[in-house]
Amino acid sequence: MPEAMVAARASDTAPKSAQQVDVAVVGAGFAGLYLLHRLRKAGFSTVALEEAGDVGGTWYWNRYPGARCDIQTIDYSYTFDPELDTAWTWSEKYATQPEILRYLGFVADRYDLRRDIRFKTKVTEARWDEAAERWQLTTDNGAPVSCRHYIMATGCLSAPKPPEIDGVKDFKGKVYFTGRWPHEGVDLAGKRVAVIGTGSSAIQSIPLIAEQAAHLTVFQRTPNFALPAGNGPAPEDRRTFFESDRAAYREQARQSMAGVPYPQQTVVSWQLSDAERRERFERAWAAGDLVHILTQLWADQAVDVDGNKIVQDLIREKIRAAVRDPETAAALTPHDHPFGAKRPCLDTNYYATYNRPNVTLVNLRQEPIKTITASGISTNGRNVDVDVIVFATGFDAMTGAIRAVHPITGRGGKSLTDVWAHGPQTYLGLTVEGFPNFFMITGPGSPSVLSNMAVSIEQHVDWVVDRLKALRDAGFTTIEPTEMAQAGWNRHMADCSMLTLHRLANTWYTGANVPGKVHGLMPYTGGVGPYRSICDEVTSRGMLGFKLTGPGGAAQCNDGEVVRLQPDVRLVLNLLATLNLPPIESMGAAGARAFVGEFNKGRPAGRLIGDIVDGTLPGADGPLPYRVFKPATPGPHPVVVYFHGGGWVLGDEQSDEPFCRDMVRRTGMMFVSVGYRHAPEHRFPTAAEDGYAATRWIAEHATELGGKPGPVLVAGWSAGGNIAAVTCQLARDRGGPEIAGQLLICPVTDCTFDRPSYNDNATGYFLTRSLMYWFWDLYCSPADRTDPRVSPLRGKVDKLPRAFVATCEFDPLRDEGVAYAEAMAAAGVPVEQLKAHGHFHSSFTMVDVVITGVAGRVQMAEALRRFAGLPPEVSRGDDHSQGHTSPGHKIAAAAS
Ligand SMILES: Cc1cc2nc3c(=O)[nH]c(=O)nc-3n(C[C@H](O)[C@H](O)[C@H](O)COP(=O)(O)OP(=O)(O)OC[C@H]3O[C@@H](n4cnc5c(N)ncnc54)[C@H](O)[C@@H]3O)c2cc1C
Repeated sequence: MPEAMVAARASDTAPKSAQQVDVAVVGAGFAGLYLLHRLRKAGFSTVALEEAGDVGGTWYWNRYPGARCDIQTIDYSYTFDPELDTAWTWSEKYATQPEILRYLGFVADRYDLRRDIRFKTKVTEARWDEAAERWQLTTDNGAPVSCRHYIMATGCLSAPKPPEIDGVKDFKGKVYFTGRWPHEGVDLAGKRVAVIGTGSSAIQSIPLIAEQAAHLTVFQRTPNFALPAGNGPAPEDRRTFFESDRAAYREQARQSMAGVPYPQQTVVSWQLSDAERRERFERAWAAGDLVHILTQLWADQAVDVDGNKIVQDLIREKIRAAVRDPETAAALTPHDHPFGAKRPCLDTNYYATYNRPNVTLVNLRQEPIKTITASGISTNGRNVDVDVIVFATGFDAMTGAIRAVHPITGRGGKSLTDVWAHGPQTYLGLTVEGFPNFFMITGPGSPSVLSNMAVSIEQHVDWVVDRLKALRDAGFTTIEPTEMAQAGWNRHMADCSMLTLHRLANTWYTGANVPGKVHGLMPYTGGVGPYRSICDEVTSRGMLGFKLTGPGGAAQCNDGEVVRLQPDVRLVLNLLATLNLPPIESMGAAGARAFVGEFNKGRPAGRLIGDIVDGTLPGADGPLPYRVFKPATPGPHPVVVYFHGGGWVLGDEQSDEPFCRDMVRRTGMMFVSVGYRHAPEHRFPTAAEDGYAATRWIAEHATELGGKPGPVLVAGWSAGGNIAAVTCQLARDRGGPEIAGQLLICPVTDCTFDRPSYNDNATGYFLTRSLMYWFWDLYCSPADRTDPRVSPLRGKVDKLPRAFVATCEFDPLRDEGVAYAEAMAAAGVPVEQLKAHGHFHSSFTMVDVVITGVAGRVQMAEALRRFAGLPPEVSRGDDHSQGHTSPGHKIAAAAS
């Protein structure tokens, strides 16, 4: 629609009294448009207020040369209406800004949306009127608005960040911002141009500006990873998949991690050879697809620094190959963040542009900008005279546009700015406690910028509008999240932040690009599909975490936290639930062993370490197998005697191999895993006596095994934790061997089954109460159960080796583990405890599946090294940590 027409429709002639609507929407981009459509269909009176002169949002404002999407347009589209989906065909794999803007205009026309949009109208303040139960919005143009519900669809990347450089006002040439590019375009031909910034907008525009300008000087503070877009027609394979079954294609996107229909990778980097990894990388590089290269190389690329570093190095090679001048290539090469932790960019000829004679790169890390002068830019090293300065300095992302409406005053006169003083606090990224009937689309705490936003926006809008309908139908007038739900979400956000490497970079995801902004990872890193299922769970559990009120004192509040499990534990348990497995105890011992054997076969054994040696040792009553896991470093190393889990019935010396390997890497110590005998063939006290005998033998033969002579350490998980604990008591009582420390992970310590954790976690967390009953029955008759050799909590617990006891919140064995730790501590034993929140019994041993278990294993490794008298270096797997976590992470850290 021409600007003049839009202006005529703008609201300066609107009445001075407030415009009354059910729902006011701020913004008319992807989100605002779909909201209008859905709200109207749901029968709400509504208005959208938009600062711009027309629809489009991002695509209205960002008209700089080369502006395009970086998610393939086949995916970056509305999907709510199959007819709309077929009515529009994109011309390119990555459409240009004009084409996307035309598309959004086409959508606005198709659903006649403009008639409810007040353009050139900025919302400046919002106040919750408690008595009227309505929001009162102030605008800079025309009538204020009074609405029951206030929805901010103001965009994550819509508040450009002002330049932080002195002297801009003195500059006599032209200044442009990529995020506010003039609609009529800019002629840069023959001009000396400076571009400040090398984020996505800069990387898209620099090659085109260089083609026009007499000279282009790029001022770069932080280099970014960029990959060739390989633009052109949409790739054949995706088109074919899409055309063959559009509904399935869209559904797969909705359930995926990033909102683009790619499967989850399962192969980890170290399972592939160098050649295989290179082949995968080259394919991804050639594919020119951000989501592909971010998700499809290997499963650990986004979660593990080693898996990620391989990708980084391969990309660095590409940069060196593309840029002729080695110094420029070095300056363009990122070294300060994992690949993907900062949004990588898609480019067309970006790196090659630096080979042009009319392009200069200024590395601001070496020569910071001092000031902008009348004639150009002055750094510590030079004065660069220019005619034009282009600021490509990015956005005050995620919260900038929300906070720009100031104040937003909620219940009791609370201002959102104050509530968010230490970082954004939300429930689901959609709502805020104390701000009734207030919603944000793609707010902080939602997947937003870590996803294909078209998919996330549709999901948010559908969820919000469906809730508003349900609220109205049930006769309620207000909806607001509870404090507990919001705190729970913040903690879940913090847990999720440990899943990926995003926390290790200073980026606009963490607010680090804006001086003074509170640092913390703002987008939800748990994935689009899981997020969707959580939102649905909130609904199916009776609006969990929301307080609803209505006339006559009507109220409903189903308080609680929607996700208490660690995000990856939740995924594992959901997956197990879908498998519908029979209870293990129903399989019989042989069947259960076969099942566990099969299960373990499909699991990677773990990363490379030094030698792995099998042998047998003389047990209490005949030979016992063992497996030695040695570090790759020169020995001899301190020896840890390890006992596997499996309820005294299942498993063997190899069954916890991934855990042993991981701990060997982290501790630099040697693990000897013992194959003790199992029930029901060998009942109590066989496992205990085998464990003790094996420890004694290993201690006596440490040198032969390649370990360090002297005291050993013992460790064990579950029933293995039981054996480790019992071994320490027996060693104390039977005159050795000397044990320097014990690591007990979710140990069985007592035969009492009425502690709260047995009831709270009786079912649903894989290790069930009934499975524990079965293990106990097979191993130990009721008469023997109070013997300290199976219930060490019943024994003497003084004078034991130093201990580290790890327990998991969602584990029947939690309370007995805690009780044992407390009993030892009360008896004077130095004890450290890890009470792992959100974890289940298998969290620490499912090494490459439960990524959030890493932090716990790091603590365990640190403890073992302390017990062995070694200096505290352990391999964390996230050694680049710069200490930036989401605000809620502090809560999580405190909680554990
Ligand atoms: C250059 C660029 C490329 C991008 N490419 C992709 C991509 O490929 N894939 C992807 O998923 N995402 C991409 N994004 C992110 C993009 O912002 C979203 O995909 C999407 O367009 C957001 O839509 P929205 O409606 O939520 O917000 P926006 O499009 O940002 O719209 C918000 C609107 O709200 C208006 N507004 C804000 N505050 C007020 C106020 N107080 N009063 C009145 N109006 C207000 C703004 O003027 C704006 O028009 C890109 C972003 C940029 C900047």
